[in-house]
Amino acid sequence: MDALESLAGLPKADLHVHQEATRYLDLILAEREGREPYDWAGWRERLAAEIPPGKERLQRIGSVQPVPLDEYDDDEFFVARFAALMRDHAAAGACYVEIRCGGEVVTREAFMSLFRRAEAQVRAEYPLLRAEALAIVINPGQNPATADAFADGCIRAAGEGLAGIDFLYAPYDAEADWTPMYRLAGRFAEAGLGITAHAGEVSTANIAAAVRMPGLTRIGHGVHAAADPALLELLRENGVTLECALTCNEYFGVLPETERHPLARLVEAGVAVTLATDNPVQLSTTIEQEYAGAAALGMSAEQLAGFTRNAIRAAFTSEERKSAMLSELDSACSAMTREP
Ligand SMILES: [Zn+2]
Repeated sequence: MDALESLAGLPKADLHVHQEATRYLDLILAEREGREPYDWAGWRERLAAEIPPGKERLQRIGSVQPVPLDEYDDDEFFVARFAALMRDHAAAGACYVEIRCGGEVVTREAFMSLFRRAEAQVRAEYPLLRAEALAIVINPGQNPATADAFADGCIRAAGEGLAGIDFLYAPYDAEADWTPMYRLAGRFAEAGLGITAHAGEVSTANIAAAVRMPGLTRIGHGVHAAADPALLELLRENGVTLECALTCNEYFGVLPETERHPLARLVEAGVAVTLATDNPVQLSTTIEQEYAGAAALGMSAEQLAGFTRNAIRAAFTSEERKSAMLSELDSACSAMTREP
């Protein structure tokens, strides 16, 4: 079957999406108030005209907050914005999404029960959608006491169903000091949390250090590994899965200008790859569009299904959920091949 034709019936998975709190809140308020939401297409156009592609443009990712979050901080809005993100994914054919949240969100009273309430709302309409939550740890070396308190909060939340941890740090384009991150990762892994880290988005720096992190099984982006056979080998040997975000890489211009996205090279090298939206509201993408982008880069229908399979295998969720999703994926794939 043609890769693009297979898309509608193929269950998709997104292991790397940020909660986009203020952006989803803006969409919800705009609908209630009968106004237009913030114009992200205009923002992207202005930014692309003003800021050169690469690290500098990427740093502007959080520069606009269309709505002040703290003015709408009640449980109802909290549930509504997570439900909106999950619903967008379900409507785009996702069977699974992992949502990354900042510290103030994850350590909120009853966070996981609110998250599950959002998931239940969406599953009433889309029973095949499952969602899990990740916490983002940022620069834990800067203030070890704060980082420890946050880690305590994450480990508590793990008991309530928090699925994993994502690490973000500076410098991002040159080698960072991973010592404080390794120390926390050991605690997280012991608590049963899955571990991923942003690395290899703007350069090859930090990929090898991330692979050595205790408990790490995935890397957010990692696409620059395609330029280095030793890094490809390291990823393969350690069974690390990459969360590739095509639209995000293209818009921020983090790859050499003349180069096609190296997705196919990563796949050919035998690295486990998945597809991701990263910041779907800001970048006007969906998980279906990411799969369509991969098809446009030459990926076959089987390879697209392979991205979902890799995502389910690498998901930070229960074995029960994984085996249910794998058998649903198998049924969807065999239904597609039976069609004329
Ligand atoms: Zn990201």
